[in-house]
Amino acid sequence: MLLTNAWVATMDDAGTEHRDGWVLVEDGLVRAVGGGEPPGGERLDLGGALVTPGLVNTHHHLYQTLTRTRAQEADLFTWLKTLYPVWARLDAEAEYAAARTGIGELALSGCTTVFDHHYVFPRGEAGLIEAEVQAARELGVRLVASRGSMDLGESDGGLPPDSLVEAIDDVLADTERLVAELHEPGPGARVQVVVAPCSPFSATGTLMEASAELARKHGLPLHTHLAETAEEEAYCLELYGCRPVEYLERLGWLDGDVWCAHCVHLSEDDIALLGKTGTGVAHCPTSNLRLGAGVAPVRDLLDAHVRVGLGLDGSASNERSDISLELKQALLVARGRGGATALTAREALRLGTRGGAAVLRRDDIGAIEAGRCADLAVWRMDGLEHGGADDLVASLVFAGPQRVDRLYVGGAEVVRDGHLVNADEQAIAQEHRGIARRFLA
Ligand SMILES: [Zn+2]
Repeated sequence: MLLTNAWVATMDDAGTEHRDGWVLVEDGLVRAVGGGEPPGGERLDLGGALVTPGLVNTHHHLYQTLTRTRAQEADLFTWLKTLYPVWARLDAEAEYAAARTGIGELALSGCTTVFDHHYVFPRGEAGLIEAEVQAARELGVRLVASRGSMDLGESDGGLPPDSLVEAIDDVLADTERLVAELHEPGPGARVQVVVAPCSPFSATGTLMEASAELARKHGLPLHTHLAETAEEEAYCLELYGCRPVEYLERLGWLDGDVWCAHCVHLSEDDIALLGKTGTGVAHCPTSNLRLGAGVAPVRDLLDAHVRVGLGLDGSASNERSDISLELKQALLVARGRGGATALTAREALRLGTRGGAAVLRRDDIGAIEAGRCADLAVWRMDGLEHGGADDLVASLVFAGPQRVDRLYVGGAEVVRDGHLVNADEQAIAQEHRGIARRFLA
């Protein structure tokens, strides 16, 4: 496959862009990329479109598409307490419908790799992770799934109801099972599994430590929520006598195989520690604004050489699973916090591509370079919203959100002419609407 007549933003180390570019794809990989006269062969003329690497989402809860617009004025803890009992109704059928909806939306917004943080395992419900893996395989995107967990229930001073917490041994055994059954090591992986206890206020230190031990035994990344709200900071100080980042350090977590969602409330020392230890961050600006949590210090994190990617977060705190919107949101909140030079359009795009790949410890995606997977997003730039823009990369970010025109994952077409190739959008929405009714209060 030879894509021609495009502005190609490669997101390689040098930030190379080819304004009259082409991309040659063979066997699911980028074989070559360049500008000017393309190599010989049959061409697919993109008519002046912008081509970027497929976007990488580093934090989501796909099941939450079932419970949008709940607890509309609530802060994080109130929101969670409202929703936990509703989420306790989750089963594999609902998870499948939710995942198809969330992944469909993500693909249409340019996302080729989805990380899903799943931590709700109602007693007796099997096949939840398998359901989302099936949805991802059917729609054609890469999925980094997680066996999340909670073991600190209300009666022990935690936030979730006791009915949603599990015994540590059960969590670890099920994680081992899923890794053995689903995890693909090595470049080009379509499905991976990471270890992801939910948060310091829903998982005990014992579970956090055991999870880290298990992950490191298998060479898997580790993930959790961290430093999302001022209330969480107060909770950590009261319960553990230290700030959230210090708490993770004490548990032996902070390292290059870990990334944490949010990291909004950080001290200067926290930021330095994340940088020094190589710990990554999933920046989720829309969710943080929706719950009134604040704005993460992304400029400071980048300056401290922290790996930062973008996360949508679940659809109960960010109703729109549109990662192209998150590029714009990241730029806007960084500027709201730090002024007009706090983040450039290209830095925002880098967060959503290379940054996300680095956070997931993937060097096979995130850039358009020979040898990497051909995960490509093709954006039409001839619409009304881009008229008068002479910088297509900047226009994608400033004028977003935008539906992708074509999307390729490993060279295979997932979106064509702005529609899913492997599923019917209306059918997904209709099925999801029916199942979501079960989750009404
Ligand atoms: Zn989250």
